[in-house]
Amino acid sequence: MKRLVILGGGFAGAKIAKALENYYGTVFIDDKDYFEFTPGILKTIVNPSHAKKIQILHTSYLKKAKVIRARVKEITKKEVTLSENNQKIKFDYLIIASGSSYNSPFKEQNIINVSRALQLKKNYNKLCLAKNIVIIGGGIVGVELASEIVEKYKNKNITIIQKSDKLMERNNQKTAMYAKKFFEKKKVKIIYNEIFKKYINKNVLTNKKTKIKADLIFLCTGITSNSSFMKKSMSNFLNERNQITVNKYLQIENNQETINNIFAAGDITDINEEKLAQNAEKQASVIIKNMISLENNKPLAKYNSKPRIMVISLGRFNGILQYKSFVLTGLIPAFLKTFVEFKTMVRYKS
Ligand SMILES: Cc1cc2nc3c(=O)[nH]c(=O)nc-3n(C[C@H](O)[C@H](O)[C@H](O)COP(=O)(O)OP(=O)(O)OC[C@H]3O[C@@H](n4cnc5c(N)ncnc54)[C@H](O)[C@@H]3O)c2cc1C
Repeated sequence: MKRLVILGGGFAGAKIAKALENYYGTVFIDDKDYFEFTPGILKTIVNPSHAKKIQILHTSYLKKAKVIRARVKEITKKEVTLSENNQKIKFDYLIIASGSSYNSPFKEQNIINVSRALQLKKNYNKLCLAKNIVIIGGGIVGVELASEIVEKYKNKNITIIQKSDKLMERNNQKTAMYAKKFFEKKKVKIIYNEIFKKYINKNVLTNKKTKIKADLIFLCTGITSNSSFMKKSMSNFLNERNQITVNKYLQIENNQETINNIFAAGDITDINEEKLAQNAEKQASVIIKNMISLENNKPLAKYNSKPRIMVISLGRFNGILQYKSFVLTGLIPAFLKTFVEFKTMVRYKS
């Protein structure tokens, strides 16, 4: 049986491993021992027990794959090297699904499930005590987080600091306006066109003109690609943002060559689109098909990047659904978000 190595156990890696573990001798490497439904993590900030609903150990849903909890420190065209013991694992096929990092406590790496629960609980205790909360970044994550906090706590001062003149600047105008009005009603303060970098001490944020008191600061400032293991031998497959360059079949490719037996999927790729769980899963489906086609000498499927339906929650009972210029607001988007979480987790838990 040929050996398939999968690097990363997020939306793309977990889906591919579950689908292909019966076809290949699969080695699944993740630096966490569990899959986590990241979109659900914002609920967990105000309700840490929710974590149980959105996490599952990799060994629970993978029946045949060899699951290794380790960090990969280097890859070449033939093998991957693990950090801890320099162990080298050769492969016939490699799928890179190492995703992206986000500030703590939203997404963690190199952690086990038990420590993650403790960390979320600790963070929750700090949140309970904080009176002045500052969220730096008014993108989707910042907006959803502020909504969760304001829904649960009526007596906290919440400030969102946004670097431009609009919340969720990559979304359409109607979406941004709805969120703005929602926050106005809830008395969440938004400071536009500000970038705060300096802290006078750990409780005060300062800029040229403004000072803001904060008992708790959340950094919701975007993602960084997890591709350090490419730097030594495979850096010619990275773009200037450290994303892995792929062709339309999701094989890794640069100007000189295509590597037929190495694929990449999810946040780590250089595909120019919103980095979303649903895109990671769509790419995973293409790779699953292509891995089977390659073995049977059949033509490969292409990944078509296109606008997708986005659902942004504003707490449990309000939300925004956006598809191109169409926007639906209120209860239905909020329920839809909960439904997607439920549906995804059932897939892994059943
Ligand atoms: C707070 C938040 C809310 C979000 N909400 C939504 C939403 O509502 N809807 C939506 O569609 N998307 C949402 N996203 C985006 C979504 O989570 C990502 O697009 C998705 O997680 C990407 O999946 P992935 O499989 O590419 O990578 P990831 O989910 O990032 O998984 C990568 C895995 O690889 C592991 N890894 C990385 N490097 C190494 C290494 N060297 N060795 C071993 N393991 C490694 C990581 O620890 C991780 O387990 C949200 C993101 C955040 C941060």
